[in-house]
Amino acid sequence: MKISLEQILEGKERIALGGHIRPDGDCVGSSMGLYLYLTEQYPQLHVDLYLEEIPKSFEILSRTNEIKHSIVDDQEYDLFICLDCADKQRLGFSGVLYETAKHTLCIDHHISNGAFADINYIKPDASSTSELVYGLLDKDKISKSCAEALYMGIAHDTGVFQYSCTSPETMEAAAELLRKGIHGSEIIDKTYYEKTYSQNQVLGKALLESKLMCENKVITSILSKKDMEFYNVVPSDLDGIVAQLRQTQGVEVAIFLYELDSNEYKVSLRSNGIVDVSEVAQSFGGGGHVRAAGVTMKGTPDEIIHAIAEQISAQLRERG
Ligand code: 5GP
Ligand code: MN
Repeated sequence: MKISLEQILEGKERIALGGHIRPDGDCVGSSMGLYLYLTEQYPQLHVDLYLEEIPKSFEILSRTNEIKHSIVDDQEYDLFICLDCADKQRLGFSGVLYETAKHTLCIDHHISNGAFADINYIKPDASSTSELVYGLLDKDKISKSCAEALYMGIAHDTGVFQYSCTSPETMEAAAELLRKGIHGSEIIDKTYYEKTYSQNQVLGKALLESKLMCENKVITSILSKKDMEFYNVVPSDLDGIVAQLRQTQGVEVAIFLYELDSNEYKVSLRSNGIVDVSEVAQSFGGGGHVRAAGVTMKGTPDEIIHAIAEQISAQLRERG
């Protein structure tokens, strides 16, 4: 059921917004969009946005300098709004503010979301959390800056209006946002397609060293911490690598690993549709969507890939 932002804000004075660790385009787009809307339309409210450091390219959005990257004092909020966050742990450093807030609201589109907040607005069919936020706002009151943030979020989570999660409603939302006078193509170019030289080098390395398995239906690639130091890249620079791996002819699932710590890897999974990678990620404690999911796992890359491939093979046998 659709919620009313007006009703939820009633009687609240101090609001905190928070998104998931290693914030991506939809996380930043949805939370910045809502932050801009609330501060512009409800000047009487005290609103703070908490996110980890965001990719530099996202700084083209207005007022990203106001994002709080740490907790200063003992802050208590009347309402904490989690955005694009499938579980509480994914909030990272802002989780303590969630725990102490008087009320909580979760706006999300992950199929793995277990509805952990007081009020949950979760639509797994929605393209993005940014599209959900758009649906909660009064269209006439959306400013150009707010529209830029939401458009960026929708564009990122749909792979630029291309993935199967792109619905007629998604395109209608994007059209309305474009009518606010934003430069859609510039936002997409600067925040989605444009890569630094190092990012392209590391993408090249990942593709060059990728391996096919499971009768060429699964592709894998691994980046070690040493590689990341050598190419001078951070985890957010690796966005897009797994999507490119998935676009290999004949491949059903792409598995991309990068090292977080010794014997600990962040795993990104992408599926062409037959395999439900959210199910795979959830079985190891992660989550996500049917076609895009992630998890953090311990072990050697071989052990991790073997464990994941076993499940993928089982699904391929059942459904392939
Ligand atoms: P990515 O592979 O780009 O990091 O993530 C793909 C999708 O899975 C995103 O929607 C992301 O929010 C979700 N995801 C990634 N890692 C995790 C994780 O460790 N836990 C959960 N619950 N979701 C994740
Ligand atoms: Mn999202």
